[in-house]
Amino acid sequence: MALLEYQGKQLFARYGIPVSPGAAAVTVDEAVAAAEQAGYPVVIKAQVRVGGRGKAGGIKIADNADEARQYAGDIIGMDIKGHLVDVVWVEHASDIAAEYYASFTLDRAAKKYFGMLSAQGGVEIETVAESDPDAIAKIHIDPVIGLTEEQAKAWIAAAKLDPAADAGALEVLMKLYTAYVDGDCDLAEINPLILTPEGKVHALDAKVTLDENAQYRHPEWAEYEASQDLDEREQLAKSKGLNYIGLDGTVGIIGNGAGLVMSTLDVVNQVGGTPANFLDVGGGAGADLLANAVEVINSDPNVKAIFVNIFGGITKCDEVANGIVEALARVDVRSPIVIRLDGTNAEEGRAIIKAHESDMLISQPTMLDAAQRVVQLAGA
Ligand code: GDP
Ligand code: MG
Repeated sequence: MALLEYQGKQLFARYGIPVSPGAAAVTVDEAVAAAEQAGYPVVIKAQVRVGGRGKAGGIKIADNADEARQYAGDIIGMDIKGHLVDVVWVEHASDIAAEYYASFTLDRAAKKYFGMLSAQGGVEIETVAESDPDAIAKIHIDPVIGLTEEQAKAWIAAAKLDPAADAGALEVLMKLYTAYVDGDCDLAEINPLILTPEGKVHALDAKVTLDENAQYRHPEWAEYEASQDLDEREQLAKSKGLNYIGLDGTVGIIGNGAGLVMSTLDVVNQVGGTPANFLDVGGGAGADLLANAVEVINSDPNVKAIFVNIFGGITKCDEVANGIVEALARVDVRSPIVIRLDGTNAEEGRAIIKAHESDMLISQPTMLDAAQRVVQLAGA
């Protein structure tokens, strides 16, 4: 789950990382009030989950109330790379002596945490990685030992920051590491981490992704749910407990188990079709869940045909078949459904489908047959 900049900064502040005082605003009046509170000059920042906001005109410095009003008005409602700005963050503007980059993430292959620090901040790290890879100091951190001060000091030395920033950077990095681990983040990134002319080091931006697997121990994350940019269909799927990801093709896909669903997408592609989504109903899916899955996919106007691909293990094919029949009774399904059932109770399941077979419900014996049929029906 990706946080907005200001939510990331609030998280940082809870772990003692220095950030500028500020407030979020959804109207121009609120933005001006926040500016008065923060003290001029202020920086007004579009809150969207996409980088390069500055270049897109989504970050402006205002020296007085008139400017704050004008810039907030410009930025609220702006479209930045397809993201509509409905919140701005207003904070006291900082003087910048140097801009750095710092982040923690996970290196799955190394089974360790991974830190990156660079004296070349303020630009995208991918750009630095390409143009000057040696300018990024990297460390691996053993999760059992954690980040030691000794290791952090060597890391900072390798990044060749301004010596005036070393002490402040050490403090920020130790705290950022704690925020990253205890806060259950997948990513905690500060770009830019700045050095001020007074020698202070603080976070000017925040990019935080939370590990949703840890949601159960973070009741406070509930407030972030509301601000996620899920579209209507993703929201519907989430509310029904379905693992759904929208894509832009014409063949709706329902399967059980992530591996099977991914291979279903591949097979549909292989026979010339384009998947409209990923949808995993999981193990032991019953009739109700199947009907919900059909409902979600049916609400996608791009879908021309639906492929239900089930390999029964814990999941029983007869229950799946009943679910599909129930979905056809409950939902006004627009597109034909091609179903392939195999595994536990496949015979019983196929018999149920056969009894209800029509132009809208077609059974196929194998995954490849079903893929060819559904792609043909989708008219691809
Ligand atoms: P991003 O472009 O979406 O990553 O947004 P950032 O928050 O990183 O801001 C982009 C750039 O705007 C920074 O690299 C700074 O150069 C500039 N900027 C942001 N906040 C301030 C501020 O308080 N003072 C000054 N002088 N510049 C700022
Ligand atoms: Mg940034």
